[in-house]
Amino acid sequence: MSLGLDSPVTSLRGVGAERAKKLAALNIFTVGDLLGHFPRDYEDRSRITPIGEAEDGAVCTIAARVTGEAEVSSKGSGLIITRLPLRDDSGALDALWYNQPYLKHRFKKGEQYFLSGKVNHRQWPLAGGDSGRPRPVIESPDYELYTGRPASFGKIIPVYPSTAGLTQKLLRSLIRAALSETLDQVTDFAPVLEDSLGPRGEILPVHPAEKCDRRFAVANIHFPESPEAFLWARGKLVFDELFLLQAALTYMKGTLDIRPAPVFACDVSELLDALPFKFTPAQRRVWEEIRADLSSGMMMNRLIQGDVGSGKTALAMASAFAAARSAGEAERFQTALLAPTEVLARQHFETFKKYFQPLGVTVSLLTGSLSAADKNLARAAAASGESGVVIGTHALLQDSVAFKNLGLVITDEQHRFGVRQRALLAESKASPDGQGLRPHVMVMSATPIPRTLALILYGDLCVSTIDTLPPGRQKIKTYAVTSAYRRRIYNFINKQVDEGRQAYIICPAVDTSVTDVSPMESVLAYAEKTRAVFQDRAAPDGRATVACLHGKMKPADKQGIMAAFADGAIKILIATTVVEVGVNVPNATVMVVENAERFGLAQLHQLRGRVGRGPSQSYCVLITDSQSQVCAERMRALSAIDDGFVLSEMDLKLRGPGDFFGTAQHGLPEMQIANLYTDLHILKLAQTAAQELFKADPRLERTEGGRRLMDKIKWYTRGKLLL
Ligand code: ADP
Ligand code: MG
Repeated sequence: MSLGLDSPVTSLRGVGAERAKKLAALNIFTVGDLLGHFPRDYEDRSRITPIGEAEDGAVCTIAARVTGEAEVSSKGSGLIITRLPLRDDSGALDALWYNQPYLKHRFKKGEQYFLSGKVNHRQWPLAGGDSGRPRPVIESPDYELYTGRPASFGKIIPVYPSTAGLTQKLLRSLIRAALSETLDQVTDFAPVLEDSLGPRGEILPVHPAEKCDRRFAVANIHFPESPEAFLWARGKLVFDELFLLQAALTYMKGTLDIRPAPVFACDVSELLDALPFKFTPAQRRVWEEIRADLSSGMMMNRLIQGDVGSGKTALAMASAFAAARSAGEAERFQTALLAPTEVLARQHFETFKKYFQPLGVTVSLLTGSLSAADKNLARAAAASGESGVVIGTHALLQDSVAFKNLGLVITDEQHRFGVRQRALLAESKASPDGQGLRPHVMVMSATPIPRTLALILYGDLCVSTIDTLPPGRQKIKTYAVTSAYRRRIYNFINKQVDEGRQAYIICPAVDTSVTDVSPMESVLAYAEKTRAVFQDRAAPDGRATVACLHGKMKPADKQGIMAAFADGAIKILIATTVVEVGVNVPNATVMVVENAERFGLAQLHQLRGRVGRGPSQSYCVLITDSQSQVCAERMRALSAIDDGFVLSEMDLKLRGPGDFFGTAQHGLPEMQIANLYTDLHILKLAQTAAQELFKADPRLERTEGGRRLMDKIKWYTRGKLLL
């Protein structure tokens, strides 16, 4: 039976249940998935280095003859070394493998091999050669018996993202097999490029022999015929990926723009009068943008981005109030506000209640941790229309929650949800009376997308940016220190607590060398270890002033602790990143982050944003012992820069392609091969191409290619983060 792109990996020879499981960990389930598992790097083995010219410390490919038996020796430390003598026309060297004694019998004198590995001249004085001089060694080399048609030598070799138990050799051979079985089934869904695109969007000369279609690109991204072929292939695949992204966005936007939606009257003066502050100019501008959407009669689909603390909640309140007051008492519109965590949902609930209740708008909370009875009450209030605003976590997404007249769906910290969840809410909660009016959609994010990128990705119309903070904010003093400073930091925290302030300590894990410590364990262990340090700060009435907060706690306990921290009863909160999102306790002035190297720039900026929310000077202390260059740059950036937009631009630069944190932190779509920052030129080309296509064939139904693209879009938008 012949294989297809959809055939399971187990249909390849050599793949049983065990290997299939390991491949699944890499998201590889089908033969087609193997083709889409692109290399993370390449090793150029196209050049053979004569042994006499191999430089110390360089990774070289050599071609040499075995000149004797392999010897196995063991060191006192338990290390077993297999040593194989080799020679070419220019010199001799030994190949070394560690703890693989079975290699002894693999090689025969006189055989010729390709080998690739790091050459070392110095470390092995024991290796006295014929002349008594030390011989160079090549350490743990890859090797292959010399033949006319080498499989993994004499060319550029891919290095794949992998997991334990899957060797590069195995991945290469599986992908090679997948290519030979199914490459001819790969088809184009984006235009075939006349020219090829370089990594900076520059036009490369056309491939001389054949078109750079997707088939060529897939073959050459895995096993490039030449460095040029690799560039052609990458350019095409980046183009394809961005074209698909743009097509999906255009499609979604097209289907949303034409949808009629409720018209809100948008008189919110009552609420604005009740708030304890005046809108900043930035908030006012963004409110005007929202108001224009909400009164247009067309569905709003808007991203509100603003740095931590920029005051997005107030805009959510204004929008919800506009809905609640729109059509008079009888048939006002309801708002659903979706928060990523219980803690945040409860906080929003308290804030909304404070201002809405006195103005006669009922606010309800609906989260997973409520008792069944309370949930039923909240559901009933949503269904009867009594609730003007229903605030909740993903419990809101459940089928059993119905609204009488839903007019607006707001998602806070949108990058925490998949597009499918958001779409689900917007789609499924439409008013049951069959009027067919869809609610407006507003998403808020504090991890700003770099402006340049936002404009290209989403266009000017549907992104609003709050680019200034409310007045009176002080810059948060940020320091990066090593753990040697920990004592002093504890003293500093104690001093702040004495002055009536509060502090957060975030710890992902106590010991960086222990990777399997869960965040919960680490928080508890940390609290235990610091008990004595903070003990004497206990309140006179004996209440503990230090508390732990982690994701594994019972929701009720979490809320209790958050509430006590907000009230000031708890002074020091030792926590995991559950406090990362949106928590607002203005009296907290110190944020300490342990193992700061574990976090990306965007996340550290988020954590820092938990302080500096009140009138007092606030501090952020990042503790790290990491020596890494990237970490050092991150720490420098955070200490110097407090603008989230600037940091987000920098973060994208620092991360580069293939970073395993991905782009989810930005709320950007996850990319497989494209780098949204460095491939900006290609993104522009892809955008133009996608727009032209939709102009010619708005529903993608006129051509075979268009229909294929539509299938691809439907597959692509499933579970993806798109606006
Ligand atoms: P975020 O954008 O991070 O969600 P919040 O909406 O939680 O920020 O606002 C942060 C703090 O700033 C809150 O305490 C809020 O009351 C306050 N705030 C919001 N807007 C203003 C304003 N225009 N003037 C003064 N304080 C404001
Ligand atoms: Mg917020």
